[in-house]
Amino acid sequence: AKHEGRNGYRFFTTEMQTRSERQLQLVNALSQALEREQLTVHYQPQISVINGRIVAAEALLRWYHPELGQVSPAEFIPAAEDSGLIIPIGEWVLRQAVRQARKWMLDGLDPMIIAVNLSAVQFRHSDLPNLVTRILDEEGLPAEYLELELTEGVAMHDTQNAVAVMNNLHARGVRMSIDDFGTGYSSLSQLKKFRIYKLKIDQSFVRDISTDPEDKAIVSAIIHMAKSLGLQTIAEGVETAGQLAFLREQGCDEVQGYYYSRPLPAQQFEEFARAKAMV
Ligand code: C2E
Ligand code: CA
Ligand code: CA
Ligand code: CA
Repeated sequence: AKHEGRNGYRFFTTEMQTRSERQLQLVNALSQALEREQLTVHYQPQISVINGRIVAAEALLRWYHPELGQVSPAEFIPAAEDSGLIIPIGEWVLRQAVRQARKWMLDGLDPMIIAVNLSAVQFRHSDLPNLVTRILDEEGLPAEYLELELTEGVAMHDTQNAVAVMNNLHARGVRMSIDDFGTGYSSLSQLKKFRIYKLKIDQSFVRDISTDPEDKAIVSAIIHMAKSLGLQTIAEGVETAGQLAFLREQGCDEVQGYYYSRPLPAQQFEEFARAKAMV
């Protein structure tokens, strides 16, 4: 048993070392990603269940590094958060997304909301409301077309500060939604204090709703409780007609997922939106 333990320990440290080396390598490369123009933003439609129209587009960051290749945000966003690089990168994404939304508006696309992911680090460490207002002003987008997607952690971590920042943003007309809902520890009743208008039901609950009775029950409960609190709902990770049918039956307002479209480069998103507006 002693022998195994030692092996276990060794294995663990080697793995940790490899992980932190990878982390360091990522942070180094990421610190130059902005100036080297390796970052882009893709857009994924959020679709009304009622009429099939595009209600919003979620901005999702993409990073292509010449040697590392395409790095997943699931990997580099945590590295960006730990290193503080999320502050300049997050500001850049926000500006790109707001600028793109304004451009689509001028180009005559049907009005839609642009949804931008916000890290807890951005929420805590920068003068967020002023930054957001400045970017909206400079790019010429009315505040009601911007939605900030926050995770439950943002709201729950430093509740007093979170309430103040959300009140401030809300007063300026910016919408806020809770991302990955159901994966954190918050209850719907706790969320009442926060100025949010929409819950995004995490894709882990949506994946098996066609077959798993428990997931059906969870998703149905979230939708009905959200409704009774006056909140809208969107289901993430919708890939099949069967999932969509169940969500429609339960009264979910919107869906997002590969069933309609993957996240697309701006130009392709625009083509998708124009084609959809014609049907
Ligand atoms: P998220 O905000 O929950 O974004 C949804 C993720 O699900 C995206 O992964 C999207 O590509 C993926 N997805 C969408 N539809 C489907 C589907 O039907 N099936 C499946 N299996 N997946 C689907 P992505 O783009 O890899 O982003 C991963 C995470 O990285 C995001 O999760 C978000 O937490 C973070 N992220 C991405 N861009 C940004 C950003 O600009 N700022 C911050 N702070 N975080 C970001
Ligand atoms: Ca999101
Ligand atoms: Ca999500
Ligand atoms: Ca997520």
